[in-house]
Amino acid sequence: MHLGSCECKAIQYKYTGEPLTCYACHCTDCQTSSGSAFGLSMIVNNKDIEIVKGEVTTNTIDVNGTKVQKHHCSQCGTPFWFSADEYPGIVALKPGTFEDTSWFKPVAHLWVRSAQSWVILDSSIPQYEKQPEISELIELWSSNENT
Ligand SMILES: [Zn+2]
Ligand SMILES: [Zn+2]
Repeated sequence: MHLGSCECKAIQYKYTGEPLTCYACHCTDCQTSSGSAFGLSMIVNNKDIEIVKGEVTTNTIDVNGTKVQKHHCSQCGTPFWFSADEYPGIVALKPGTFEDTSWFKPVAHLWVRSAQSWVILDSSIPQYEKQPEISELIELWSSNENT
């Protein structure tokens, strides 16, 4: 069981489950939405997340023609997870919101062609110029877990 919360602590959630995968994405959309050099995403089943305090606000945003739901704290703006109609039942959770972040590591770097020049990547994990198949990322996570 893992607890997560936003910066202002108005919302707290509980995650019980096995992630499908976790990756770092260096695309320009992730740089913008995180306000940082890259975005970290953990793909999880929606049913494994339970809100234990507060209320998550959902906004629908248009990302290059795709409707994406952004679930966040309306007070401090911290994003918790993103969902899209084309991926029912799963969400891309922002794992930096976990209170303990020591239990996971990204298995791949995506969109490294737009990575900021000063970011030094771990060469021992796969790097993709663009977007790989999600099945490939799931495979990487499950083969990594036993190490
Ligand atoms: Zn908050
Ligand atoms: Zn991205």
